[in-house]
Amino acid sequence: MIEGYFDDTEERRKQRQNGTGWIEVIVGSMFSGKSEELIRRLNRARIARQKVQVFKPKIDARYSREEIASHSGQTHTSLPVTTAAELLAEIEHDTQVVGIDEGQFFDMELVEAVNRLAAEGKRVIVAGLDQDYTGRPFEPMPQLLCVAEFITKTHAICVKCGSTANYSQRTVESDARVEVGAADKYEARCRKCFVPHADAPTAG
Ligand code: ADP
Ligand code: ZN
Repeated sequence: MIEGYFDDTEERRKQRQNGTGWIEVIVGSMFSGKSEELIRRLNRARIARQKVQVFKPKIDARYSREEIASHSGQTHTSLPVTTAAELLAEIEHDTQVVGIDEGQFFDMELVEAVNRLAAEGKRVIVAGLDQDYTGRPFEPMPQLLCVAEFITKTHAICVKCGSTANYSQRTVESDARVEVGAADKYEARCRKCFVPHADAPTAG
């Protein structure tokens, strides 16, 4: 069974009974379903009448400013914040579940922030890119993976060959680490088809 597709693993149930919080991290390449998986978990928590707060970094103006969105069109309302400190300041004391999308666009203080929220008894779910367009680990996601109780790695399908895609291939010329875009600037590729610099988009 794929961990992460079941919200109620035995460990999570035990932790809930103990009243302790925890951190879940969802990582993978672009188009791998991170936002879909985050939205799915948040919706389930809401259906169970848990108080949920969702955040995204202000930098990501991809679709809608007040929503997190998946490439397949699913959305969930969220609050855009600029820093981890701003996120902490917005947390209400009775919030049970905190969702954070595009974690890689936050500062390193996000690690301490989510640790604090979990210590206060909250369930924290962070989704984000684990690698940048050159394949380098994308901080603060590596550090978040280290402190998380639960980790889910999602994969896309390589648009060139159909293998498991673990990389976000940039398809437009740019040396900027942060180049916000979707299918207009990136495509999913496997280890064999990925090149650590801009490459022409796959035809068709
Ligand atoms: P992420 O948050 O990881 O970027 P999303 O949850 O936003 O991913 O989007 C996942 C959706 O992207 C899939 O359900 C599918 O509709 C779409 N998609 C586009 N290209 C691909 C691909 N190459 N492999 C898999 N899904 C893709
Ligand atoms: Zn491939």
